[in-house]
Amino acid sequence: MARYTGPLCRLCRAEQKKLFLKGERCKSDKCPINKKRPMPGKDPKARIGKRSDYGMMLREKQRLKRIYCMLEKQFRLFFNRALRMPGITGENLIGLLESRLDNVVFRMRFAVNRNQARQVVQHGHVYVNGKSVNIPSYMVKPGDVIEIKEASKKLNVVKDALKEIAKSGVYPWLTVDEDAMKGTFVSVPRRTDVTDLADIKEQLVVELYSK
Ligand code: SF4
Repeated sequence: MARYTGPLCRLCRAEQKKLFLKGERCKSDKCPINKKRPMPGKDPKARIGKRSDYGMMLREKQRLKRIYCMLEKQFRLFFNRALRMPGITGENLIGLLESRLDNVVFRMRFAVNRNQARQVVQHGHVYVNGKSVNIPSYMVKPGDVIEIKEASKKLNVVKDALKEIAKSGVYPWLTVDEDAMKGTFVSVPRRTDVTDLADIKEQLVVELYSK
């Protein structure tokens, strides 16, 4: 599956918001958003006008899509799937995005960001319920057990990423055994559980695609 391979910070600068696409750097003073770097290709002194309703919907969709490191085609497929599910489409969409294997690997702190998590999966370092799975978009179901393969447990990227558990803990919809490098996806998170997306208005994404 195709993926964006350009500079990640540029995506945040385009939104003028932190998307937390890297790791420690996102929390440091080195983050270009903290340094108030301008939008790519914009004169720093240029006035940014008021956005139209369409512009706001578009930006919200781009932001959510970029946070989950997805390209338009695949993101749209996820939206269509959310639309067919019972319940609130925006909340269904977040639940589906959170159920992707690469995202679960990131949330279990086996990688410092979703891009790295995708690589960990693609390079065959992950088992789901004891079977090797190397498809980042694989949909994890409640009760599934995700584990780093025995031969991959010495990987520094995974060991370093796991240090975040000591600082930030484990998300409430997951359990993680740090030493065994193994975790369970207990349930699909409710919208209110995903607090790092608190400022995302997924309803605008629904409105955009419903036009
Ligand atoms: Fe975005 Fe992180 Fe780069 Fe800051 S450091 S611009 S939050 S990817």
